[in-house]
Amino acid sequence: MPYPTATIDLSALQHNYNIVKQYAPSAKVAAMLKANAYGHGAVQVAKALDAADAFAVARVEEAMELRDNDITKRIVTMAGFLDAEELQICVEYNIDVVIHSHWQLDLIDALSSASLNIWLKVDTGMGRLGFTPEEFEDVYARVKACKQINEMIILTHFPDADDISKPTTDRQVKAFHDLVNHLPEAKSLAKSAGIIAFPDSHCDWVRPGLMLYGVSSVNHKTTADLNLKPVMTLRSKVISTRTLPEGHNVGYGGTYVCPEAMPIAVIACGYGDGYPRSAPLGTQVLVNGHRAVLIGRVSMDSIVVDIRGCGEVKAGDEVVLWGNDLPAEEIAKAAGTIAYELFCRLTKRVKFVYKGLGIRA
Ligand SMILES: *Cc1c(COP(=O)(O)O)cnc(C)c1O
Repeated sequence: MPYPTATIDLSALQHNYNIVKQYAPSAKVAAMLKANAYGHGAVQVAKALDAADAFAVARVEEAMELRDNDITKRIVTMAGFLDAEELQICVEYNIDVVIHSHWQLDLIDALSSASLNIWLKVDTGMGRLGFTPEEFEDVYARVKACKQINEMIILTHFPDADDISKPTTDRQVKAFHDLVNHLPEAKSLAKSAGIIAFPDSHCDWVRPGLMLYGVSSVNHKTTADLNLKPVMTLRSKVISTRTLPEGHNVGYGGTYVCPEAMPIAVIACGYGDGYPRSAPLGTQVLVNGHRAVLIGRVSMDSIVVDIRGCGEVKAGDEVVLWGNDLPAEEIAKAAGTIAYELFCRLTKRVKFVYKGLGIRA
């Protein structure tokens, strides 16, 4: 097997999809496939999630990639379209668009004919895209009067749902309900954290991303607590093992000094593969299933780990960087980032292998 390799377990993906359905049994699911399905491979993930009611991406190009690969399911672009050319593509490819600004409605008005489905975005506290609650009534009326628009779904997005100790999300849910509950259109609020922690936010459509990939996105529960299964396992191999004498330094800058004579292993994975350079001393790695810790700085092509306590290790042995038995959220936390970023920044040096659903890795 080439290395590093990201193995993508499509049966774990389906398992996590079923967990979404357990949390929100009566909501439709728009599975979030933006940024190449959080680095997992959008087309493969789309094909494995046939049960989803729709797919969501960020940009028009991402939606086109799915359509060009025979994905016929409903697709919505979360950032909408950027100009008339992209709008034309959305019409031709039958792509739903999020509408967050008046200039987008101006472009839709200018179409000679169309039957677009739009998701009208209200900003209830994110401070990013969307119309304010104050301007909502006018925008809603404008959309209703627009002949080029077929169906409208109303959505909002949460900045703080990962942290249940903050009052923001409950306030947003209430503000959204007060604003739109009396309207007949379908409503959508919840990303993964809302699905898990805020049942009042489920409504008609949920939009799970991270939890589908098997990572907890709430601070108070781990992946295992939620019965999610990691979809991606990043593996590589030991290139070399040595015993360094007491007092010997390890890696660039000599930031680690061996406290005693000790065995170390050099592993073929570095920031040139997408492993975070910010991962500090003590970040965990599995060597032949044993926990080892990172020592010295992360290099472009390799890391060095302390293998005292790992038994016999030799060149070619298998290493897990994150995934099964080593949650990505732990590595992300150690490195001062989030699992979303770890997944998205793997480089093209990492080979992808798909298994599950009858595919054997
Ligand atoms: C990315 C995104 C989601 C999914 O978020 P997760 O935390 O990954 O579940 C949902 N809605 C919008 C608008 C998003 O941009």
